[in-house]
Amino acid sequence: MLVLPRDGRMQDVRIPFGERDGTLFRAFEVENGLACGCICPGCRKPLNAANGGQKVIPHFRHVQSEDCVRGYKEGVRRAAVALIAARRGLTLPAFSRQVSATAVSGHSLFRDVSFQAAPVIGDSVKRFVDLGDVVAHAVVTASNRQLLVRIKVFSRAEHERYQRLLRIEASSVEIDLSGLTFDQINVPAAFERAVLSDPNTRSWIRSLRGEMLIKRAVDELGAEVIVYNAQWEQERTRLQAIEDERRVEQEAKAAEHAAALAAHRQTQLEAAEAQRANGIPVKEERGARERREELIVNQTLRAARDWGGQAVECSACCLLNPPGSEFCLFCTSEASTMTRILVPADIAATIHLRMRSSAKPDRSLRMASTLLVQPDPFT
Ligand SMILES: [Zn+2]
Ligand SMILES: [Zn+2]
Repeated sequence: MLVLPRDGRMQDVRIPFGERDGTLFRAFEVENGLACGCICPGCRKPLNAANGGQKVIPHFRHVQSEDCVRGYKEGVRRAAVALIAARRGLTLPAFSRQVSATAVSGHSLFRDVSFQAAPVIGDSVKRFVDLGDVVAHAVVTASNRQLLVRIKVFSRAEHERYQRLLRIEASSVEIDLSGLTFDQINVPAAFERAVLSDPNTRSWIRSLRGEMLIKRAVDELGAEVIVYNAQWEQERTRLQAIEDERRVEQEAKAAEHAAALAAHRQTQLEAAEAQRANGIPVKEERGARERREELIVNQTLRAARDWGGQAVECSACCLLNPPGSEFCLFCTSEASTMTRILVPADIAATIHLRMRSSAKPDRSLRMASTLLVQPDPFT
């Protein structure tokens, strides 16, 4: 029974409620046809009741005009408001919101704000109250607090109306009946549930209680953020202090090392000077590799004999230095690192064999081509 009017909107010409003597009736509650004595709640023109057939859902139709849209809307809205007035209230929707606050560190703190759906029973219910720039379809008053109710019959944007309601210092709810079918409207129990209690048809436009809870949560989160920031700052300061301390230590170590190395270089120079004064080194007579191998063997045997097998090896020139040496006495390689090693007591028996396959003489020449100080000859 849908007709398509000239403007293209689909429109149900069936009217769910007829009005007689100020009361709304469903079509099955009155006589059939014109005998129903009902008028349209919208345009107030006479209605025909159609409740005769078995297959037809009881409804009203205009006797003449068929382009009245207000009949449907006014009837459903007034019937809904009448139910709220009869009960002096309705079930309020649940409320759920999450608030958050961000700390200095960028970390976010969250809090859920919610309360359950609950029925409200007022002291009185006023119908269709003009609030100036918006109409409340019902106003439920309970101990001096007012709840504004909007009944939505067609699905269309209510944004501007709700903006006006948000400026009013009272809680307001929307009951959305736009999803109801004609059949559901016609069944009193289904309609009553949709109007009074179905959680899916109601939502808050504005909840003063919700706003109060949100404000409280925001205040609490603000206090938490202050504590959180203070702890974070404290921890940051502590880590910074550790970092500073470590840097100072490292700098002191580096300075100490540089001073020790400078002193060592001075010692080397003096030793080299003394060796030159004594006519050492002797002029290279054999090949450089052979000479360097001899020096390595020389120092290894010295470690076994004179240093109790303890020595420190230079990673650059591969010459053994006395145990405890921090720097190499012989070369001036910047790449030199010193490693403690143990020399077996019987090394003399195998040292020449070992040297034959050793890369140390070549490595020594490559990394420390000249020695500043010559090891003392081993006798
Ligand atoms: Zn009408
Ligand atoms: Zn060295």
